[in-house]
Amino acid sequence: MAGYICPQCGAPNDPTATECEFCGESLGIQQMPPQFQQPQPMNYQGVQPQVYASEVVAAWPVKSKVVAGVLALFLGGFGAHKFYLGKTGLGILYLCFCWTYIPALVSFVEGIIYLCSSDENFSRKYHVRVKQ
Ligand SMILES: [Zn+2]
Repeated sequence: MAGYICPQCGAPNDPTATECEFCGESLGIQQMPPQFQQPQPMNYQGVQPQVYASEVVAAWPVKSKVVAGVLALFLGGFGAHKFYLGKTGLGILYLCFCWTYIPALVSFVEGIIYLCSSDENFSRKYHVRVKQ
């Protein structure tokens, strides 16, 4: 390090010195290296996370979570739970691919998720009202 230049007399000083050893000028604040402000992380306020309606819509059909779960576990390969939940398109898709056993595997997991999710989450996710 070249040393800190005294703002008063221009003499080089030891970086650790607090006062100029020639003129006694305080080297405190003036001699501190500039504090580069770290740029604040961007707040991505323009990209708001999608806000889902917190209210369960009364128009949603009433469905049983247990029925949906059991259908998914045992008949999920044929899309039964999708038909039950009103997702006819997905149900047909599952049915078309049932011979691959992939829908059955997916449905098995879905069935477990159905049965494990809270009524509230289930309701919002599948747009149904949960029958107790
Ligand atoms: Zn000085």
